[in-house]
Amino acid sequence: MKKGRVFSGARPTGRQHLGNYLGAIKNYVALQDDYDCVYCIVDLHALTTLETTQDLRQNTYEMALDWLAAGIRPLESIVFIQSNVPEVTELHTILSMVTPLGKLTDLPTFKEKIRQQPHNINYGLVGYPVLQTADITLYKADTVPVGIDQAPHIEFARETVRSFNFAYHTNVLIEPQMKVIGTDGEQKMSKSLDNHIELAATPAETLKRVMSMVTDPARIRRTDPGNPDICNVYSFHKIFSAPEEVQMVNVECRRAGIGCVDCKKLMARNLNTTLEPFRARRAELEENPDGVWDVLRDGARRARTIAQKTMDEVREAVGLPS
Ligand code: SF4
Repeated sequence: MKKGRVFSGARPTGRQHLGNYLGAIKNYVALQDDYDCVYCIVDLHALTTLETTQDLRQNTYEMALDWLAAGIRPLESIVFIQSNVPEVTELHTILSMVTPLGKLTDLPTFKEKIRQQPHNINYGLVGYPVLQTADITLYKADTVPVGIDQAPHIEFARETVRSFNFAYHTNVLIEPQMKVIGTDGEQKMSKSLDNHIELAATPAETLKRVMSMVTDPARIRRTDPGNPDICNVYSFHKIFSAPEEVQMVNVECRRAGIGCVDCKKLMARNLNTTLEPFRARRAELEENPDGVWDVLRDGARRARTIAQKTMDEVREAVGLPS
């Protein structure tokens, strides 16, 4: 018996990196044991910030490939592309009628977007949290896994659901609960900082990336003692290395018993060992690209069955002529 239904969406950002894995994918995989999971590649959300859509299809494919290779089980969970279930845009429109504009423009995330792209403050950007609420509620998800920094978004979704249910004297939409997930390592890597390590990178590429990682800046010479507590490499040792190796690095770094080069090589080796099964599975899936698209199409079909039922209830509650 599953505990409820989880919904989570991610923008199609192409090949996933370690930060994506630690921040989201690893949790997606684990949640499948306890919840019905609905995982969505939110291509419509991506349109609010994309300058061009020329890589959208390929990025969607690469991301789905990484999700599947990492252990998302498509027969059990629903994996699909947001725009393949058009009911979400209808629910977005209906929910926008119970959303005060000022509430949207006051959100810190909106203000941040204005700062990031002052040349493109589009209407979709303002309504982004409403579309996000539509994503969650369309599938009657009761649980949304997020990092603690995403809490205001879920609170916004909850308030919007309350407004809708109050306005139309109904309980058709479900207020989602937030499930705070660990995002260990997520903040340490990003494509924009160009310090990311792709899950699908070769062992040699991974080693090269690890060798360029920033360490304790005060440790200039090999003989300088270091402080692992402020070193990114050590953070990754804690995730990918055996406890005795973590302990060894913790002790030896502080007394200059191990140099950063050897320390990084050790971490890269452990990281590559951890990623080996993922890479093998990815290569296998890559042999049949149509299979990945079939998974996404089948996911959309199953998602749409839920979505159509919800929309029948929503239209009825609103009083739209059938
Ligand atoms: S020895 Fe390892 S933990 Fe210490 S500063 Fe160098 S890379 Fe970081």
